[in-house]
Amino acid sequence: MTEGSEILVVGAGLSGAVIARSLAEAGLHVRVIEARGHVAGNCHTERDPETGVLVHVYGPHIFHTDDTEVWDYVNRFERFRPYVNRVKAQSGGKVYALPINLLTINQVFGKALRPDEARAFIEAQADTGISDPQSFEEQALRFVGPVLYEAFFKGYTQKQWGCHPRDLPASILKRLPLRFNYDDNYYSHRYQGMPETGYTPMVERILAHPAISVHLNTPFAPDMAQRATHVFWSGPLDGWFGYDLGRLGYRTLDFERFTAQGDWQGCAVMNYCDADVPWTRITEHKHFAPWEVHEASVLYREFPRACEPGDTPYYPIRLVAEKDLLRRYVARAEAERGVTFVGRLGTYRYIDMDVTIREALDTAAAYLAARGQDRTLPAFVTPPL
Ligand code: UDP
Repeated sequence: MTEGSEILVVGAGLSGAVIARSLAEAGLHVRVIEARGHVAGNCHTERDPETGVLVHVYGPHIFHTDDTEVWDYVNRFERFRPYVNRVKAQSGGKVYALPINLLTINQVFGKALRPDEARAFIEAQADTGISDPQSFEEQALRFVGPVLYEAFFKGYTQKQWGCHPRDLPASILKRLPLRFNYDDNYYSHRYQGMPETGYTPMVERILAHPAISVHLNTPFAPDMAQRATHVFWSGPLDGWFGYDLGRLGYRTLDFERFTAQGDWQGCAVMNYCDADVPWTRITEHKHFAPWEVHEASVLYREFPRACEPGDTPYYPIRLVAEKDLLRRYVARAEAERGVTFVGRLGTYRYIDMDVTIREALDTAAAYLAARGQDRTLPAFVTPPL
């Protein structure tokens, strides 16, 4: 191979792995570099040495999608077991089912409403004066009303994002359904499941192709880009520029691990919605793999906080005030040649695993099409703005 004929993919998470695979299958040589000691990015899973439980090292990841092509794609590399995410939430010392459904509504208000009655009851509490909700808080007050907002969203969101819900976009709350029946499936997608052996073996299989070389513990250095025909960057957008305009805001998570015997909380995820409880949720990992049997249990208490230099970024914040900085980075990125920004960090968007894979497949296809026409792929296939 001549120097410069290789594609460089920075980051071996879902974006990087899927792009590398598509390009390798099209006959190109791909070098994947990864700063961490493992592939799979933040959906990395590993066996807890003490308990033998499969752990979602960077917090809970449940695969769900409506995209048949993406579902078929992940099933090509891993067996997915049926799994339905049923989240419980504590508020005011009581336990409820999330997402908000008819059981939640009836329990909170001490009623026995049928679907139509519950819809009318909640609508009567909603602030119908808000015609076009912009913020998280407006979206909540418009659609769930003040009581449910205070009980489930206000405190949790303040802890999760480190700011008042009035400063956050409505899109964050739109992730969650509001149901007037007893369906407590956290997601409304057609396909949902858990990888039988974990996400990391799945990503390892995606990367296992003779035309892909994977280099772990290998941070990016600018001279690597000079030697590549094209770079796919799945690191933070601002990181590509050495953060020289300032840092885009991210939330990171700290996990406090503890172990127990038997079944500690009875479900995989328990949210803690009250502002005076310092963590947002507790994950009991063995419930993510109900087909496995373990006497011991390992749990993570989750503490969100501002992401500082050196921390792992998880959630792009996208506050209104940050939009200006984002715009400036995007403008600079668009002026770059030979690099395309991908994934949650590269495009600074709060996207789920299935969307990440869909965009990675589309990005690789766009690259191959552009290459066939002797064009350069632009900085963004999915623009962040
Ligand atoms: N949320 C909340 N209370 C809850 C669960 C979620 O206020 O009990 C809000 C919170 O702002 C969160 C957002 O809804 O960031 C989206 O929730 P999701 O479960 O999708 O978050 P993720 O699992 O991606 O962290």
